[in-house]
Amino acid sequence: MFKDLNKKVAVITGGSKGIGNAIALRFAQEQMNVVINYNSDAAGADKAVKEIEANGGEAVAVQADISKEEDNKKLLDAAIKNFGGMDIWVNNAGMETQAPTHEITLESWNKVIDINLTGVFLGAKTALNYWLEKNQAGNIINMSSVHQQIPWPTFASYATAKGGVKMFTETIAMEYAPKNIRVNNIAPGAINTPINAKKFADPKQYATTQSMIPMLKIGDPEDVADAAVWLASDQSKYVTGTTMFVDGGMSLYANFQGGRG
Ligand code: NAD
Repeated sequence: MFKDLNKKVAVITGGSKGIGNAIALRFAQEQMNVVINYNSDAAGADKAVKEIEANGGEAVAVQADISKEEDNKKLLDAAIKNFGGMDIWVNNAGMETQAPTHEITLESWNKVIDINLTGVFLGAKTALNYWLEKNQAGNIINMSSVHQQIPWPTFASYATAKGGVKMFTETIAMEYAPKNIRVNNIAPGAINTPINAKKFADPKQYATTQSMIPMLKIGDPEDVADAAVWLASDQSKYVTGTTMFVDGGMSLYANFQGGRG
């Protein structure tokens, strides 16, 4: 338990499923109040709200497309209206598309950048303005990926966006540190969520991914949520501008295992 989180208010983007959902449920275990953003999956968000309420917590589901500035404002407004303020903003929503780079359409490129990178900027901007106006401490957690540093052929738009998230996190962490606003980044490896459902349904593909992880295990969304709750809490109060890799060692150049190379 992280006692300082009791009754703190968090906005979590893309919280209806996968990692965002696990973070919402984990935060609720700390008796936090949670705004669960969804884009199209209202049923998933409602289920999460009900689950949190059944355990004595408080949550509200809010539709918003985080690539739009006014929609991010909607999330902040919901936090203020329902819970009286906002303390922690988790920019988790994301998506990926696969294509050889010479075939990526401009429309597809823009969509991936809009959601994975511009969405993070807009969420952060919304949160920063609120805290600065109130002269209040703040805490932003951005969801990046091991692909902020591992190149990923045929996923160029996604890897580029996540590389941008890393630099954005570091830049604003420095910029707002004097204001007592912390900004950190989580870089998950391969996690068992809907984004990977099709891939991991294929046993061969599952085994291939597993073999690329030194711990030989694909992660669970709860593994990422455990990192997020620590970054949200005061136990990480001297930590800002960092990336926490939650990847079973995937980013450690697994090909060199056993002295190969
Ligand atoms: P997921 O597909 O289960 O969840 C992504 C969520 O983002 C969904 O709820 C989706 O509706 C939401 N979303 C997408 N576009 C949105 C928009 N415009 N507005 C609001 N919400 C939107 O995937 P996940 O694995 O839970 O991914 C969560 C984050 O973790 C993403 O940023 C992803 O890039 C990152 N990540 C995941 C993995 C993994 O292996 N699962 C690895 C590295 C990074």
